[in-house]
Amino acid sequence: MVDLLDGKKAAQLADQEFSQRINDLKLMGITPGLAVILIGNDSASQVYVRNKKRRAQKVGINYQLFHLAENITQTAVLQLINKLNHDPEIDGIMVQMPVPPQIDAAKVMNAIAVDKDVDGFSFDNIGRLWSNNSGNFPATPRGIIRLLQQYEISVAQKHVVVVGRSNIVGRPMAGLLLNADATVTMAHSKTPNLAALTKQADILIVAIGQAEFITADYVKPQSVVIDVGMNHDVTGKLVGDVDFSSVSQVASMLTPVPGGVGPMTITGLLEQVIILAEKRA
Ligand code: NDP
Repeated sequence: MVDLLDGKKAAQLADQEFSQRINDLKLMGITPGLAVILIGNDSASQVYVRNKKRRAQKVGINYQLFHLAENITQTAVLQLINKLNHDPEIDGIMVQMPVPPQIDAAKVMNAIAVDKDVDGFSFDNIGRLWSNNSGNFPATPRGIIRLLQQYEISVAQKHVVVVGRSNIVGRPMAGLLLNADATVTMAHSKTPNLAALTKQADILIVAIGQAEFITADYVKPQSVVIDVGMNHDVTGKLVGDVDFSSVSQVASMLTPVPGGVGPMTITGLLEQVIILAEKRA
């Protein structure tokens, strides 16, 4: 019988810890501040931003949303970032992706002050991650590391296979794992004979955006499987990248979708904001 890695429960536990840490900060006169810049009216982005607001406010973070018009100029966005960079009440700044075509996402992300770049998408923070220096790192991989820790699953000395090489999940995930002494293999859409690789994984992390792609044939018996995917199947139901019904027969531990990595992504973001406020203190 597979054990579920319950992200909802882990996120609630984390929120309790965060509330306590924020109370301690408030006693020192500091409230962690998070500025979220949302450009345009992408409906999925509006849902993500709302979820962040709810969780951030619940633990006591000063959450500020800057909702900008779809046709805003890049200059205006850069001006806002510059203002927030100099705002002493703001510890973290993030721009919700995707942005409209007139906005150069890389330019915008690199305009955020390195220490306030809460998503860790700037080239500086990517460099810090890959040189194993302290910095800000992306929310989803942070959340996954925390989920594994909460279930006392050590990655050190384990062979972890990460499928997917995006800048927001796969690559930073591999960096964090490497820094935590895992032996890491990265795979992607051009990897030949994927199943032969994934079957060697003690821990398999899948972030490919392909509904229920990873079946039991890809999984080593008794391994731990982390499903990052969020897809809709033909009936519109939210499903992961992992075929839950077959993989749950083989793996020892598995994240459900929903209720696995999703809640832990916001946990990763909130934790990063709190760490930055603690540095300010
Ligand atoms: P991207 O589309 O940016 O990247 C997908 C990656 O998967 C690419 O590297 C691609 O390879 C690889 N890939 C695609 N198909 C295959 C395949 N058949 N075999 C092996 N590799 C493949 O996706 P993201 O990383 O942004 O997101 C991945 C999934 O995770 C999505 O479902 C997304 O919704 C979800 N997600 C969930 C989050 C959460 O909080 N739960 C947070 C972020 C994302 P190549 O580079 O060669 O094209």
